[in-house]
Amino acid sequence: DRVGFAIVGLGKLALEQVLPAFAQAAHARPVALVSGSPVKMAAVAKQYGIAPDSCYTYADMARLRDNPAVQVVYVITPNALHRQHVIAAAKAGKHVLCEKPMAPSSSDCNAMIEACRAANVKLMIAYRMQYQPHAREAIRLARSGALGSVTLMDMINNQNQGDPAQWRQIKALAGGGSLPDVGLYCLNTARAVLGEEPVEVSAQIWSPPGDPRFREVEDNVAFTLRFPSGAIANCMSSYSTHRLSRLKLIGSDAWAEMEHAFDYQGQNLRVTRLVDGKDQIAETSIGVKNQFALELDHMAHSVRKNLLPRTPGEEGAQDQRIMEAIYEAARTGRTVRLAEVPGHDRFR
Ligand code: NAD
Repeated sequence: DRVGFAIVGLGKLALEQVLPAFAQAAHARPVALVSGSPVKMAAVAKQYGIAPDSCYTYADMARLRDNPAVQVVYVITPNALHRQHVIAAAKAGKHVLCEKPMAPSSSDCNAMIEACRAANVKLMIAYRMQYQPHAREAIRLARSGALGSVTLMDMINNQNQGDPAQWRQIKALAGGGSLPDVGLYCLNTARAVLGEEPVEVSAQIWSPPGDPRFREVEDNVAFTLRFPSGAIANCMSSYSTHRLSRLKLIGSDAWAEMEHAFDYQGQNLRVTRLVDGKDQIAETSIGVKNQFALELDHMAHSVRKNLLPRTPGEEGAQDQRIMEAIYEAARTGRTVRLAEVPGHDRFR
């Protein structure tokens, strides 16, 4: 029997990516909905065969406790609401999958981790690229030494946001601009590639003056992470440029490049190395799989087998701590040192 998920928030990501992906998952199914819009919810429930008595309002989330079909609550609401929805789910005794970014502040992240610990439920952050097969292979190549020692990384994740009135442009709901929304993918992937925690960050932030989209949140961010091994990651995010999502992992023996690295689809992975004195470019052939389905199945598997998810709450909290240092570095124009976190192997 599949693990039952309740979906909290029926916005673009939930309706266009997550709910359709259940059809490609092997171990997860949607069994309940939580929304502030009863008309929309009734239509979605009908489409996915969810019973009307498994439809809840946000204020009603405590009643999830009485629905045994729900084992996991998947929170897909605006960033600043993750905290209250994750804590409500934990209090209802349910495991939680929470969208990225985890929350706008470290103290929010800590409260969410603590609530899930106290309720003895799992908390996973939906870092989908850590389940995406090409990204997994890129991480494996770097960490297995197949590229030699990886000392430089170059990552970019840009979008061109439109509507200045959407929650992404409102600081109280989003927490920040391009950094927590899309730059986060560069940060999280750089950490996963090395399996190390950065010890220093420097950063520049620039938003075009007068653009109504950037009254409250930042546009362009360039940040550099320095790792204990000496490796350097150069990262960029934007909310106002043509869509671009790419990464390069540059090692002593070879370099790997991924196009559409953080997109929903279209990934490819190429490795360039010297063979008989000439650069040889090898395209890595990897079957296409829906990364949302893989992520849902990972959560289902973690719940069934009682395992720590690959991307637990601590992973979101660590990224949030580093993003706070990035903002400080940009604000002060100085390199910010980060408290040393012991090496770990979360990126299994
Ligand atoms: P969205 O605006 O399309 O949907 C948000 C939903 O939350 C809407 O249905 C809205 O009605 C509801 N909501 C509840 N309370 C609200 C309030 N007070 N103000 C505004 N909306 C409220 O946004 P989205 O793009 O679906 O993003 C939702 C979450 O998913 C965010 O945390 C975002 O960062 C994350 N996300 C992740 C990915 C990914 O690839 N993993 C992609 C997109 C979004």
